[in-house]
This record gives sequence, structure tokens and C-alpha cells, in this order.
Amino acid sequence: MIGGGIAGLVVARDLAVGGVPVMLLEADDRLGGQVRRHRVGGIDLDAGAEAFAIRTSAVADLAEELGLRADIVAPQPAGAWLYSDDRGALPLPATSLLGIPATPFDAAVARIVGRRAALRAGLDAVLPRRVGATSRTLGELVRRRMGTATVEGLVAPVTVGVHSTHPDELPLERVAPGLLAALAAQGTLARAVRRLRGSAIAGSAVAGIRGGITRLVDELRADLERRGADIRVGARVDEVWADGALVGGQSVPGAVVVAAPGLVAPAQSRRTVLATLVLDSVELDSAPRGSGVLVARSSRVMAKALTHQTAKWSWLAERAAGRHVVRLSYASAPPDFSEVARADAAELLGIDIRPGQVLDFATVEWSRAVRQPPVPGVVQVGESVAGTGLASVVAQARAQAASLLSGPLAPPHGRPLGRGASTKPKSRSVVPGKENDTE
Ligand SMILES: Cc1cc2nc3c(=O)[nH]c(=O)nc-3n(C[C@H](O)[C@H](O)[C@H](O)COP(=O)(O)OP(=O)(O)OC[C@H]3O[C@@H](n4cnc5c(N)ncnc54)[C@H](O)[C@@H]3O)c2cc1C
Repeated sequence: MIGGGIAGLVVARDLAVGGVPVMLLEADDRLGGQVRRHRVGGIDLDAGAEAFAIRTSAVADLAEELGLRADIVAPQPAGAWLYSDDRGALPLPATSLLGIPATPFDAAVARIVGRRAALRAGLDAVLPRRVGATSRTLGELVRRRMGTATVEGLVAPVTVGVHSTHPDELPLERVAPGLLAALAAQGTLARAVRRLRGSAIAGSAVAGIRGGITRLVDELRADLERRGADIRVGARVDEVWADGALVGGQSVPGAVVVAAPGLVAPAQSRRTVLATLVLDSVELDSAPRGSGVLVARSSRVMAKALTHQTAKWSWLAERAAGRHVVRLSYASAPPDFSEVARADAAELLGIDIRPGQVLDFATVEWSRAVRQPPVPGVVQVGESVAGTGLASVVAQARAQAASLLSGPLAPPHGRPLGRGASTKPKSRSVVPGKENDTE
């Protein structure tokens, strides 16, 4: 198993549960990849992923198997806001899916996109159900049913803030599975949204874990160790073959599963930089912007989004003991980052934040793999092939593990990974640029 992010850990565990001896090689000095913890103001916080989508039960099922069922929590039903230079901060419609309003005639929609655009969105109710039925992207579907202003004014801020991707580039079946089927059944997009939202737990589209998403990594690691898996951190794999890998000049034979973006194909990635502030502010006690603010377009604010984490997660509010935790995301780190983040937070939250109210400040920089076609001849899991987000990554990793267990690694013909062997790899290289090399 190459790569110890969530995808690699999940495959490693499923294989170990299936009786396959597992070696996990992780380049970094810690497991978890984009699921990681950091301490700001003395509070342990998720430094990357902090929630998971509950459109499927993939992550909840995993958490339950790991003994975390009782700690799955819904976010506070505070709602999110949208900020733009011209309209300031406005509450997003109470019920929506990826920004698509469940009720286009909701006054909140007209306040954000304007009356004309809201009327156009309302046309969804009278358009034949076949309109948009063959859409391939989220943007195409919403544009055809509700108009461009709804795509740009409501959906794009959500998908850019959450997925760093414009709706025109988001494949529908990945980002909103079941939405087209619901449109066919319900006849309108608004009703389809209501239908899908109705099936979500507690009306929310995401859930979290008390103590942080990083607990999944802790439990996966502990479970793997209990099952005798050989976990090696600080072990960067330099080359990989269908049945072996090269680590620090030594080749390791065995069936290989790659959960490390960039190893078998040049990784395209996009950057996200997060700024976390721990604040002393009574004005934030009333959560003036609900769970947070998405930024539509702005020349005043550099952040793409802000999450008021202590308003979103009650377990975190307890730990913060009266302080507030706010996280802002950026495409790149501006000079004088702490000042920019303080000013952006003040503008987005609609309050004054004096320098003395910032009790602590931390930044984390992430490089996230963009989804690419899988490379033939090698088993790949994780974000680069499954798409971004824990729900997609966990589901694809488990499906891949199940297929390995029922096929090439099925007992008694399993091909356990070797430990520390140093035979030269024999099969075709799948390293970029060496696709046709033989030994
Ligand atoms: C800031 C941020 C916020 C996010 N928020 C959410 C959220 O709220 N909800 C959600 O569902 N998703 C969220 N995500 C996305 C989610 O975290 C990822 O989709 C998921 O964690 C990807 O898991 P992965 O195992 O595929 O990849 P990664 O986590 O990237 O793991 C890949 C691992 O492979 C290792 N590796 C790389 N190269 C090598 C090599 N040559 N040899 C050995 N090891 C190697 C890396 O060190 C890394 O540990 C967020 C991501 C970020 C960055």
C-alpha cells in the first residue's frame, strides 16, 4: 500500500481485515495526508478536512466500524451566508443543495441574485422535466433549469468555496449523485433538491466527528497495528510497478495499490491556504454569520470562504471555552497574512476585530490532487482518481479493496506484499515517461 492518507489507510485496513498481510509506505512522517491535526491557541483542530458529506453512508459506516458511531455529530443548524462587494453579507436560502435553492421564490434567493434572476429560477417549476435531463455537469443542469444568474450567484460560490471548482467543471454524478434521477421522478429541479435534502440526516448535508475528523486516522492506524500491519512513515516510494515498488533504492516486491497522487502520473494540483484565528470576541457569541460565509466575488476580501468553526461544531465550542475559532481559505498566501486574515474576518463577520483580540493565528498550505483518468496496469485509489472529498475517496477505496479481495488477493492465492526484499522488479514500469520500459 503506497500512501497513508485516508484512501491508503482504508484499503490497507480492508485488506488486513480480509487476511492479507499489509505493508503501508507513507512518505511523510505522519499518517493521514489531508486529514491532519494542528494545535492553535491550545485547541486541537482539524487542519484539513473537518466534515464529511452524508449523501452516502460511506464515511459514517467506516466511522461506525472504527467504534466512532456515538461521536458522529451534525453541525449546528445555523445556516451559511454569502458575501459579495455589491450586496454585502446575506443569508443563503435555508434549504439548498450545493447552492441550488429548494424554493426559488424564497426571498433569500431574490436578495442574492436579484428579482429577475429569481423569476428565471422559478421557471424551473413549469419547464418540461426533460429540460436539463441529459446534463453532464452541475453548471449545465442549473443553467438550463434555473438560469445563469443562479449558477453564478448561488451555486458557483458554494462549489468554488467547497470544491475549489466552478459548477461547469463538476460532473453531476460525482458531486450530486441521484440528482438527475430525482429530477426525472419529481419533474422539477427544486423538488429534486427538496427530495435529496429530505433524505439527509437532520437536514444537513454534512456531519463531523466529535474531537475532529482526524480521529478516523487515529482509529485506522490503531486498528491496522492491532492486525499486525507493517506501517512505515518517512518511506517515500520513488518508482512503482504493477507488482513492486522502489523505496530508498531498495525494491519491495508484492501486489501494489497506489494511494499517492503523482506517483504513477504527473499530478495536477491546486493550492489552498488556510488561516485559522482564535478570537476573543463576545460579538461572535451570537454567531452573526451562522456557520460561515462564502465569498461570491470581491475586491475587498481576499478569502474565498470563512467558517465560524465554534458556531458550526458544538463540541469545539465546549473545548474553546468562550473563545471563537474562525478559519479562512485562500487560493494563495498574501503578504502580511495575519493582518489580511484579521481584516477579512472582520469584514465577513461584520464586526470589529482588534489585533489584541486575536489570541492565536496559524496557517496551513495544502496542495490537492485534481482528478485524472486512472493509469492502466496499476491499482489506484484516492482523490486523484475518486475525486475530492472523504465520501468519494472512502467509497472508491472500499470498492477497490473489495474487488482485490474477491480477485487477485483472494485467499488462498493472495500475493502478500514482501517485507524488505530486494529483488529487481521485473514487470513493466508504470512510472511516467517510462511506460514502455522493460527490465
Ligand atoms: C483544507 C482542506 C479541507 C478539506 N475539507 C474537506 C471536508 O471538510 N470534507 C471532505 O470530505 N473532504 C475535505 N477535503 C478533501 C479530503 O481531505 C481529501 O479528498 C482526502 O483526504 C484525500 O485522501 P487521499 O488519501 O486520497 O489523499 P491524501 O490525503 O492526499 O493522501 C495521500 C498520501 O500519499 C502520500 N504520498 C504521496 N506521495 C508518496 C510517495 N511517493 N510515497 C509514499 N507516500 C506518498 C502523501 O504524503 C499522503 O499522505 C479537504 C481537503 C483540504 C486540503
